[in-house]
Amino acid sequence: MSPGSGTEFLACRGVVKRFGSTVALAGADLAARQGDVLALVGPSGCGKTTLLRVVAGFEQPDAGEVRLEGRVLNGRGISVPPDRRRVGMVFQDFALFPHMSVARNIAFGLPKGVDRRRRVQELLDLVGLPGLEARMPHELSGGQQQRVAMARALAAEPALMLLDEPFSNLDPSIRQRVRSEVKQLIRAIGITAVFVTHDQEEALSIAEQVAVMVAGRVRQVGAPHEVYSKPADRTVAAFIGEANLLPGKVSGGMSESELGRVPVSADFAGNAEMMVRAEDLAITEHGGTPVEVEHVEYYGHDMLVTARLGSGRPLRVRLKTGLELQPGQRVGVTVTGRMLAFPSP
Ligand code: ATP
Repeated sequence: MSPGSGTEFLACRGVVKRFGSTVALAGADLAARQGDVLALVGPSGCGKTTLLRVVAGFEQPDAGEVRLEGRVLNGRGISVPPDRRRVGMVFQDFALFPHMSVARNIAFGLPKGVDRRRRVQELLDLVGLPGLEARMPHELSGGQQQRVAMARALAAEPALMLLDEPFSNLDPSIRQRVRSEVKQLIRAIGITAVFVTHDQEEALSIAEQVAVMVAGRVRQVGAPHEVYSKPADRTVAAFIGEANLLPGKVSGGMSESELGRVPVSADFAGNAEMMVRAEDLAITEHGGTPVEVEHVEYYGHDMLVTARLGSGRPLRVRLKTGLELQPGQRVGVTVTGRMLAFPSP
């Protein structure tokens, strides 16, 4: 799916945001379908947080349009204030009020006139923290604080939930568990969510849609497997997953590069930048393209080998464990999976 197409529950079109001479958003397009969990990823400084803050209404865009459920939030001379957008936000540091109990933190997001005590209890049940009304934020674990932050964001019954790096403040030992709990919670509520992450593994494993931002624009939006296996360009390829890029030529369904002649599906011919994933390469003791092993990172379930081609270009190869490799060893590399080609600029 290209940025902007599809059934649009959230639609950002041509959003521009400048801070002085810095262009944080350079015409960003983004669409999300109702009920989707969309991960926004991209290199540091590419504009992820700014786009989230524009959607939340905390930043005014200089140009472009933001719509939610077909309603214009920004654009055409309209700017809906944050509390009227039906958008809830969970911040990286959870932003709980330290001097307020859990109940008061959650009630802060409640509209006037509701039965506060009952609603706080319902929300605490929803996020799996019944009975913790009277606790203070410092008496909670990181994962619990995050759930309180989610309860507070859900209190106003938003149509869209925005989460800025929701897991980065959590201890690595609990991050994975909290991640899958939050995913289940979001699914159970059925709310549409957009979250920013630095962690591509997190994006690929949690989200239904992954949007890759580069330099203030969304370059590609798609299901995790699409973005991974059919990256729109070399920048997306290099950002998502372990990509080896090397120069080559394409003609008649074959690619020619330092890795030899390999079939490739490309709709062009001529000079190209070839891309092959680390797990689509294998190491052989005989044959293949000669390389020298530089170092080996061992992960138990598999290992990542960095080797050097004759040209001096590094190559990353992901292997099942079992092969004993030493730095300096000369071995061969073969392509066992897919090779992709991008036209040379
Ligand atoms: P990271 O992954 O490092 O958090 P990001 O993709 O979320 O980055 P943003 O925080 O949106 O990026 O920033 C985009 C650009 O806008 C950066 O160059 C940043 O320095 C700049 N920027 C963001 N907010 C402001 C601000 N309030 N004033 C000035 N410049 C800003």
